[in-house]
Amino acid sequence: MTAASESEFPAADVLAIAAHRDDVEQTCGGTLLRMAARGLRTAILDLTQGEAGTRGSAEERAQEAQEAARRLGVSWRQALDLPDGAVENALENRIKIARVLRLLRPRVVILPYWQARHPDHAAVAALGYEACFLSGLAKAPTAQPEGEIADRELSPHRPFKIVYASLYADVRPSFIVDISPFIEQRHNALMAYRSQYANQAAGGALFVPEEEIRERTFAEARHYGLLAGVRYGEPFVQKEVGLVDDLTLLPVQSI
Ligand SMILES: [Zn+2]
Repeated sequence: MTAASESEFPAADVLAIAAHRDDVEQTCGGTLLRMAARGLRTAILDLTQGEAGTRGSAEERAQEAQEAARRLGVSWRQALDLPDGAVENALENRIKIARVLRLLRPRVVILPYWQARHPDHAAVAALGYEACFLSGLAKAPTAQPEGEIADRELSPHRPFKIVYASLYADVRPSFIVDISPFIEQRHNALMAYRSQYANQAAGGALFVPEEEIRERTFAEARHYGLLAGVRYGEPFVQKEVGLVDDLTLLPVQSI
């Protein structure tokens, strides 16, 4: 591969970073579908490969993740090799993520909300934020790039906006993305993970049946949609305040 100019890099407008394959499908898959429908380029970076999962091998989950990506209409999806169940906010991991940020150069990064039942999810919120910061430093410590980006000189890049997908968290969202037209497509993307969600005997006590997954995920989306006066929605938290030009164009009815 020869050196390429920055304009030739695969670029993403929106990059979702998550601990586990299928996290994105559950928390912001509808949002990625909506952004893709608007003509924006979307991407997913999973940090682990799912080797600690009760069901399915890492290889199976890799194939399922690619199929789910196709169903979500994302332009790019890869998984790093962080240990499943032991994701840490370490410099080595920040560098790995920063390489991807410099490659894809997203304007918006979606991270998991910082308080979570699963320690990996909480870790990714801090790890992802610090990787976004590191990626913008001209003199960031960088290990030798590998594979796809080996021959490329990647210049610093810092995303403009970081938002936190808060569906797993019991927290009031800053805003909702209306996913009403995309709810079935999102469900189809989640169902690409046959090893996780198809009805089967292994792990039956731990996993809920497929029809319950549908009922639960649709009910969650309905709940968040109702908060914003739409049918189905996905919740996000942003740390910054909002900025408004015209009060008469503010969405979501008050009374
Ligand atoms: Zn997860």
